[in-house]
Amino acid sequence: MSSLPKTMKAVLIEKTGGTDVLQYRTDVPVPEPKEGEVLVKNEYIGINYIDTYFRSGIYPPPTFPYTLGREGAGTIASTGPNTPSDLQPGTRVVYMGTSAYAEYVAVPSTYTIPLPAAISTKTAAASLLQALTALTLIRDAYRVQAGDWILVTAAAGGVGLWLCQLLKAVGARVIGTASTAEKRGLAREHGAEVVLGYEEGFVEEVMRVTGGEGCHAVFDSVGRATFDDCLRVVRRLGTMCSFGNASGPVEGFALARLSAKNIKLLRPTLFNYIATRAELQSAANELWTFIEKDGLNVRIHNVYPLSEVVRATQDIQSRKTTGKLLLEP
Ligand code: NDP
Repeated sequence: MSSLPKTMKAVLIEKTGGTDVLQYRTDVPVPEPKEGEVLVKNEYIGINYIDTYFRSGIYPPPTFPYTLGREGAGTIASTGPNTPSDLQPGTRVVYMGTSAYAEYVAVPSTYTIPLPAAISTKTAAASLLQALTALTLIRDAYRVQAGDWILVTAAAGGVGLWLCQLLKAVGARVIGTASTAEKRGLAREHGAEVVLGYEEGFVEEVMRVTGGEGCHAVFDSVGRATFDDCLRVVRRLGTMCSFGNASGPVEGFALARLSAKNIKLLRPTLFNYIATRAELQSAANELWTFIEKDGLNVRIHNVYPLSEVVRATQDIQSRKTTGKLLLEP
């Protein structure tokens, strides 16, 4: 640890609330990696919508002060006791963990993997959490088959664009929803065959393009505002997968509603699909192959200096962004 600085830049919150609770600081102690942890010097930090839930209090932070941020990529600066042999100081890595909005982060080795030479730290930080969410949804939440009709809401967002691309790559027929014509154009460019807005409602058109049957599966991350309409367009024996709350959580759902079409309903989270290092490594290997061999596009909306975290957060919440937002310490 001797060559490391004692303090660093980081973003803290001391209470939950609006973007005004985000504090950019330059005097935060550099953490020491504990048993099984590595200390990563971040090059890029991924912004995810979940960060806004921890800031607003939809998901309560476990402690205060709390540093937001669930993923990043960079170089290992030091290791704690009992870390795997493939994680050594100097190794380029990508990780998922907590407290990523900082220059240095101590993360569990379970969620840290070395990067292949062909994958840059920028690409890795811009893809891991959102792309693995999309990949596990289409593999594990509902095993998508070629020819399936699949509805994706927020199709031009971070996870949304990955879903469009991966679904197309496995031969599914994608219907995407997004709030603006520009976003709908982007969803189409990334693989959506049909793109729809929200203003006139999407139910009728989804039923029409699917020949009155509805979709084999719906992947909905908007939550409260779209859940009911999504349920309407799932076909008999289909799957409704609700995996986010961008418009607020879905509450008070009566289970009996599923019996009208014997629908399967899931509310999965990525971390339960990649609970072990082997599961994470295997999913990441599959993702790197998709990126390299299928030429998937890692769309980066913008890279913001860490000091401009408020602007970045306002941008993702204001629905202006498409693809991935990154912070650079
Ligand atoms: P996005 O880039 O998709 O941003 C959120 C998008 O949601 C916006 O661009 C917007 O698209 C749409 N949206 C709809 N209603 C609202 C609203 N009221 N306020 C703000 N945005 C709204 O973010 P991410 O890719 O990071 O995450 C997408 C979703 O996936 C989130 O809900 C997130 O929580 C969830 N997620 C879940 C995971 C899991 O493990 N379950 C893991 C990762 C993400 P538009 O303007 O087109 O409506």
